[in-house]
Amino acid sequence: MDFASLNLCQPLLDALDKIGYVTPTPIQAEAIPSLIEGHDMLGCAQTGTGKTAAFSLPILDAMANDPWSSPRRIRTLMLCPTRELAAQIHDNIQQYAQHLDIHSMVMFGGVSQKPQVKILRRGVDILVATPGRLLDLISQGHVDLSHVQFLVLDEADRMLDMGFIRDIRKILAQIPENRQSLLFSATMPHSIVELSRDMLHNPVSVSITPESTTVEAIKQSLMFVMKSDKRGLLTHIIKEENPEKVLVFSRTKHGCNRIVKQLGQDGIKALAIHGNKSQGAREKALAQFRKGTLKVLVATDVASRGIDISDINHVINLDLPNEPEVYVHRIGRTGRAGQGGIAIAFCDENEGEYLRRIEKIIRQGIHVDTDHPFHSEKAKSRKGNKAPKKQQNQGRGQRQVRNDNSKGQPFFGHSKGKSKGNHSRGNSKGKSGGKRNSGRSGNNRNRRQRKRRTRY
Ligand code: AMP
Repeated sequence: MDFASLNLCQPLLDALDKIGYVTPTPIQAEAIPSLIEGHDMLGCAQTGTGKTAAFSLPILDAMANDPWSSPRRIRTLMLCPTRELAAQIHDNIQQYAQHLDIHSMVMFGGVSQKPQVKILRRGVDILVATPGRLLDLISQGHVDLSHVQFLVLDEADRMLDMGFIRDIRKILAQIPENRQSLLFSATMPHSIVELSRDMLHNPVSVSITPESTTVEAIKQSLMFVMKSDKRGLLTHIIKEENPEKVLVFSRTKHGCNRIVKQLGQDGIKALAIHGNKSQGAREKALAQFRKGTLKVLVATDVASRGIDISDINHVINLDLPNEPEVYVHRIGRTGRAGQGGIAIAFCDENEGEYLRRIEKIIRQGIHVDTDHPFHSEKAKSRKGNKAPKKQQNQGRGQRQVRNDNSKGQPFFGHSKGKSKGNHSRGNSKGKSGGKRNSGRSGNNRNRRQRKRRTRY
């Protein structure tokens, strides 16, 4: 299958050709036809599957086929949890829309609002935003969502984990009912299902798990170590194995800072990205890491979410995550694009319960590596002990952290096959055949039969 067979307009096909996308990924092949038909969508997929193009291309296609005369209005709103992901989605949209007369902008907090207001005044068609800053600018009267036709919630589970649910509901209240809505989430806990019921109209469901070989290609190991020795062990591994690019995960922002400081004292340059870092600092660290001029990046899960860097050879879990799905997500940062990768997890005397939950979800015991100077039998013997109740501080939204993930689906399925795609439609389609927005263009066109335009 190629993109032309998905019936996308020529300017999009030209852009994809230029970017070098030849074959649609499974989620693109699954999602794009239904979205072109105007269906709402509930997608279970994570970053790395190509989902950004899966939801962006059909929206761009619909907008291109139904151009509006000026002034520009926000016709598409894409909400996501973090600044990095917002910036990444926006970069992709700019690439895909390079031959279209469509203006997009990205909006997030932590930076001055002035330039964002200026762009809004000039007029935008697509807004990619994090919920907090968007609500701020709505309340100041700078954003009008009354013309939105397409709504995307990306990484919805993470937005809920971060406590954005009330913000999201406030934003939804500003958007016309008659729209096409898409909700993507890596897990499907009850809270997401509830939100999707309120937000989506007879959605088509698409579920894509990345190729299981991605995880299988990762060499996982586990090191038992006392909490007080973890930073020493990290320095030891980096010096011994000399990895080109290593991503270190810590549960807390302060933990990240302490790791960077310790590595610095040990002569290893590292930078941290987490919610307390300014946008500039986060972007700088990421850019250096991407380029390869920075070897060690230390991150919390919130900040690392959505980062697409393809050549990370080591992922080190200095702290085990308290949500087992997050472990799978973290180690998936290495071994991307089918390359092998190394994932090392440290387990201290208090993390036994976290480890047991992780091993349960990945359905295997992680190979224990005792061949290092910090191996601790005490930490190992406490594997069965309960983890501390204290939860991590995840920054904004800590006010309403709910760990529903235990009820949700894991990030990766355990299917024996390569990649799994389920595709099922909502039960009752109603008169509109499940298409909430079938008349959204004002001329009631049937999108299946519409002619492709080539002039934009
Ligand atoms: P995403 O899951 O949207 O973050 O995409 C993951 C990575 O895959 C990004 O670097 C995309 O540019 C890339 N990508 C998405 N779709 C395709 C495709 N059809 N062919 C090649 N690369 C793709």
